[in-house]
Amino acid sequence: MTATPLATESPTTAGRSLITARSLYKVFPSSSGPVLALDDVSFDIRAGEFVSLVGPSGCGKSTLLNIIGGLLHHSRGELRYAGEEHSQPRREFGMMFQTPLLLPWRTVLKNVMLPVEVLGLRKAEAKTRAEDLLTMVGLSEFAGRYPAELSGGMKQRVALCRLLVSDPEVLLMDEPFGALDEFTREAMNAELLRVWAETKKTAIFVTHNISEAVFLSDRVFVMTPRPGRLAGVVEIDLPRPRTEAIWSSPELLEYTAQIRGILGGAH
Ligand code: ADP
Ligand code: MG
Repeated sequence: MTATPLATESPTTAGRSLITARSLYKVFPSSSGPVLALDDVSFDIRAGEFVSLVGPSGCGKSTLLNIIGGLLHHSRGELRYAGEEHSQPRREFGMMFQTPLLLPWRTVLKNVMLPVEVLGLRKAEAKTRAEDLLTMVGLSEFAGRYPAELSGGMKQRVALCRLLVSDPEVLLMDEPFGALDEFTREAMNAELLRVWAETKKTAIFVTHNISEAVFLSDRVFVMTPRPGRLAGVVEIDLPRPRTEAIWSSPELLEYTAQIRGILGGAH
């Protein structure tokens, strides 16, 4: 088990960074003066890696994720995707949020198909893919139903299908399962890991649930309270595929204690 405060490049990322951040700063203007939301954040994330961002509410997790996704601009520093300077939304990125944001007047299938229309992808192919994804998450029978007829967990499954339908290389997820009960969340975590492993995507997952971060990730980035800095990076050396038994394993408990320690030390 290794904690490497401020050493943000794992041995395996060296030279193969897909997303590179160097000294990112973000300042928001506000009525009471400028708010420093991110303070000198640097990291490398390699292709195929699963990274979680944890930290207290208001520490800048969403800000950082939105900057990575090109939805927000950083105030200073450097951000690169596959070696190129990067500051716009791009086709390679898919985003998912805490609320599923489904359109109530569209069926489940048509909600999943939304990015296909927005991005102008080939419809026939995408429809087969959308149906396959719905089958994968156990919702094939609900393709023709409307969001109002679904539970919270089912809606988030639809949002997961919508995230995956355009086959983005990078999944950016902002507390996607934060509003779900524990049982549903654990099922969604398993589902997500299965898809991530099968499709070899790169994932950046924001959560304030430390066990969830440990269960999912190759590395956990631990942020300080605002202004958000990286207080430490914890490599999670647990076997994959991650099985249900890992939730109650002593290793998971040790990692969560270690992360809590870093969070505590950052206060
Ligand atoms: P988190 O996702 O970790 O809860 P956020 O990234 O949403 O935190 O916010 C980080 C800090 O930046 C907070 O103090 C928040 O109030 C501030 N902030 C976020 N977005 C804006 C904005 N658009 N304008 C001004 N301040 C903002
Ligand atoms: Mg947030």
